[in-house]
Amino acid sequence: MVEKIGKLKKEKNAVILAHFYQPDEIQAIADFVGDSLDLSRKAAACDADIIIFCGVHFMAGSAKILSPDKTVMIPEKSAGCPMADMVTAEDIKALRKEHPDAAVVAYVNSSVEVKAECDICCTSSNAIKIVNSLPNDEIVFVPDKNLGSYVAQFTDKKVILFSGYCPVHDRITLEDVEKARAAYPGVEILVHPECPAEVVAAADFAGSTAQIIDYATASDKKEFIIGTERGVLYPLEKKNPDKKFYMLAENFTCGGMKKTKLSDILECLETSKNEIIIDEEIRKKAEKSLIRMLEVK
Ligand code: SF4
Repeated sequence: MVEKIGKLKKEKNAVILAHFYQPDEIQAIADFVGDSLDLSRKAAACDADIIIFCGVHFMAGSAKILSPDKTVMIPEKSAGCPMADMVTAEDIKALRKEHPDAAVVAYVNSSVEVKAECDICCTSSNAIKIVNSLPNDEIVFVPDKNLGSYVAQFTDKKVILFSGYCPVHDRITLEDVEKARAAYPGVEILVHPECPAEVVAAADFAGSTAQIIDYATASDKKEFIIGTERGVLYPLEKKNPDKKFYMLAENFTCGGMKKTKLSDILECLETSKNEIIIDEEIRKKAEKSLIRMLEVK
């Protein structure tokens, strides 16, 4: 199957992009593996005719927003992100009425319609930089209350939080941190800011998936406890064969991310199934929010 995928990919000038949370066998055959920010940049810059986006729906949506002339497909149609579904375009309109002077910042983990209604997008890698780049004193941050409260610690602006959260990261508790500290004394805990504030505060480092990988790779230490989706173990172990990584909690798995199968990628290449189609008017509005984000240095 891997051979067939490789052959068809060349014939059709297709590229396979995969998020760090994808199953190992998907990351292994991808042309590029990254976090949301890397992948959105890659989707915009690559000259392939077809992008097969191995991730969840909002990510493939971002690729299509930035690459309207390319065919973008998602291998499994039902691969969604519950956090992205927690906020709607109508919520943004209501928040604007409530906070007329605030800028609305939408985490990329949101629908195309939400991206179209916000002022600018952000990822977990650049959220602090994006918020601080805005002239407004008030920021409405959607949908993730945990990432929003993390960002609020690094800005003088008033950050108005929404109620969304990632069910995978939000279920991590202080008890998990204490248990991990007891099981691996002296080992640093690296977490994603989608975890609850008290977990982030108790960790040694907080950062996006890419920042966690970079931190562990650059460190002289040999062991780490990882507080994000377990798919990240694949790039961590590949880059650091001499280091050991332990999961902060056993159930750290995103169901949506694990839905991608090699057979679905092959089917995309053979039959062009699950193409992402976006209304052009909404796409253009959403594109502005993503481009604004990509332009912040
Ligand atoms: S890990 Fe959380 S935020 Fe990421 S795709 Fe899964 S549910 Fe969504």
